[in-house]
Amino acid sequence: EPIVSLKKVNKFFGSNHVIKDMDLDINEGEFLTLLGPSGCGKTTILRMIAGFEDATNGVIEVQGERVEEKEAYERDVNTVFQSYALFPHMTVYDNIAYGLTVKKVPKDQIRERVKEMLELVQLMGFEGRKPDMMSGGQKQRVAIARALINNPKVLLLDEPLGALDLQLRKQMQIELKRLQKLLNITFVYVTHDQEEAMTMSDRIAVMNAGVIEHLASPSEIYNQPKTRFVANFIGESNIFTGEVKKMEDHIAEIKVEQGNVKMELSGFEQGEQIHVCVRPEVMKYSKTPIDGFSLEGTVKNVIFVGAQYRTLVTMDNGYDVKINRVKHDNDLKEGDRIYLYWDLEDATGIKAQ
Ligand code: ADP
Ligand code: MG
Repeated sequence: EPIVSLKKVNKFFGSNHVIKDMDLDINEGEFLTLLGPSGCGKTTILRMIAGFEDATNGVIEVQGERVEEKEAYERDVNTVFQSYALFPHMTVYDNIAYGLTVKKVPKDQIRERVKEMLELVQLMGFEGRKPDMMSGGQKQRVAIARALINNPKVLLLDEPLGALDLQLRKQMQIELKRLQKLLNITFVYVTHDQEEAMTMSDRIAVMNAGVIEHLASPSEIYNQPKTRFVANFIGESNIFTGEVKKMEDHIAEIKVEQGNVKMELSGFEQGEQIHVCVRPEVMKYSKTPIDGFSLEGTVKNVIFVGAQYRTLVTMDNGYDVKINRVKHDNDLKEGDRIYLYWDLEDATGIKAQ
């Protein structure tokens, strides 16, 4: 039984249809990430799960009970925001203790619990400080400790690391993931950063304009993207569009705009329209034609970006194909004519309309 469940949820702001017929089941103890571009409805979903915002229609349940039937203080759900939302005039100790203080928990129990939280987020010794005397990363640790002190079943996190610089963000990603596994709390995490989502999540819900286009593990989302949007949003993709010409023993011959290609394929029939998605790191090339493929193009440039060499190959219809390599094979240069191909199992087929 899911700990959070959305059934046919719609949300309108005026005539703006922001969440569209959304179904989503979140399992107890899982790290689930809502990933999508700005404005796709991620924050709105979190706010509805938290009970800050009503759905226009549909059902939202937490632990089997409808959200709107519980008062805020009865809910086993807490939220962490990008902006920290700490009380500036209170010390770290009082900020963290807040959720227990308002419940009138005995002082010695609070002291014990705050100590545990300070250890958990590695802020021992900071209890007397005020938030404006701390760095962004430290403030976010205080906000997390404050959200965890009353042992919520579900923690909602809305771009909590968005204000931190890259290095600190990467460190906090690992730390948050460790905390989540240690405490076995369900995390519903919002980000627009695909690398962050891949690093931390058990499952990712990739959203586009109020709809979940793909809900699966990070590796499945990367290796078998369900839609063209997902293929482009997660990592980099080369996408060739065309029609299945022949299917035999799960090997398809496909005519795309740029030429003929082959791939392993199931779930498609002859005559169907298809997007063939090939990641830049598995794209292969040859100076001579390859059997079953007729993708010919001209090397536009080879760029060194530190961790990778990126080559762009312009096809005769103007489409740029990306090839990424960890090491430079050192035999390609601007202006070379080359033939592109791939191992048959390295391409993914996406239904096209
Ligand atoms: P995200 O968090 O993915 O960036 P939001 O959930 O904040 O997206 O917003 C989704 C859409 O809903 C946007 O078009 C936004 O302008 C709109 N929206 C969000 N909150 C409100 C509100 N309180 N009133 C009117 N429109 C809103
Ligand atoms: Mg948002």
